[in-house]
Amino acid sequence: MDLQYSSDGIHVRELDLWLDPQISKPTAWISHAHSDHARGYSKTLIGTPATLELYRMRWPEDSDQPQRLIALEYEQSLDWHGAKLTCYPAGHILGAAQLLVEFGGQRLVYTGDIKLKAPLCGAATEIVPCDRLILESTFGLPIYHFLSRDEARDEIVNFARECLEEGATPAFLGYPLGRGQEVAYALGQAGIPLAVHGAIAKFLPDYERAGYSVPGWEPLDSKQVQGKAVVVVPGMRRLLEATGKDIRIAYVSGWARLDNARLRAGAEKLIPYSDHCSYAELIEMVSATGARHVDVIHGYTEAFAGILRERGIHAEAPAYARSRASEEEGVAQE
Ligand SMILES: [Zn+2]
Repeated sequence: MDLQYSSDGIHVRELDLWLDPQISKPTAWISHAHSDHARGYSKTLIGTPATLELYRMRWPEDSDQPQRLIALEYEQSLDWHGAKLTCYPAGHILGAAQLLVEFGGQRLVYTGDIKLKAPLCGAATEIVPCDRLILESTFGLPIYHFLSRDEARDEIVNFARECLEEGATPAFLGYPLGRGQEVAYALGQAGIPLAVHGAIAKFLPDYERAGYSVPGWEPLDSKQVQGKAVVVVPGMRRLLEATGKDIRIAYVSGWARLDNARLRAGAEKLIPYSDHCSYAELIEMVSATGARHVDVIHGYTEAFAGILRERGIHAEAPAYARSRASEEEGVAQE
């Protein structure tokens, strides 16, 4: 398959299919609803039902830019210009999917953002054997290793209980789509009273419909946080601290592995839990798919491609950059 990388996205030329394009195109596959992947008003948009629903919340219908949305359930296939497109779970956020493209006797998998370890919310990743893999390598250095979902849930719940017992307010920083809902889910399921910032709360109904209910949550009122855990976007930290209350901050992110994370996030508690693959998961992913040709995109691309080459895999880091940092990276930069 002839793949072209540009600032517009990744183009599968023979099929005129764009993978997570940055601007509107005739036909786009969107791997998940984060704003650096699901963008614009492509004429035909293919994604999982949950991804398309979340996409519509950010890109509402526009009569000037009519669209055809094609929902593809996990493991469901679609014939597309002589190719077979099938999607599989990617574990990253609700609805996230990998795309398998079978064409001309070749199997290509585009992972989108992906993690191998099971997430707190959402379907666990399936390994899809392929010849060529386009792999997101956000955390492709050996320093990045993360907690399992059970370990993360325990850390989140224990920190909240400890703070509440001491009369303090535990505040969890999470980005608006994915992490925020997972933290709220862990707290709600443990019976901890919680208040959720609006940017995170607006996606909670989608998670609840998918079976991840958050009992007893209420909208955040920063003047009334006593006796509750709060889940907020990182930009809210200073506002909470300005209330003069005893606020104790926890930062839940893959970036919590970095030495300077405590300072950057202004957090007392670091919980290294990510919705991306750790380094070991990336290596495992490549080996389990059996891919002999890997295109490494995003993150430590050159370094990770080099590591794969040392293992005898034909790996490249094509010149390609999404126009905005991913939301999780955005958090790290706060
Ligand atoms: Zn993402």
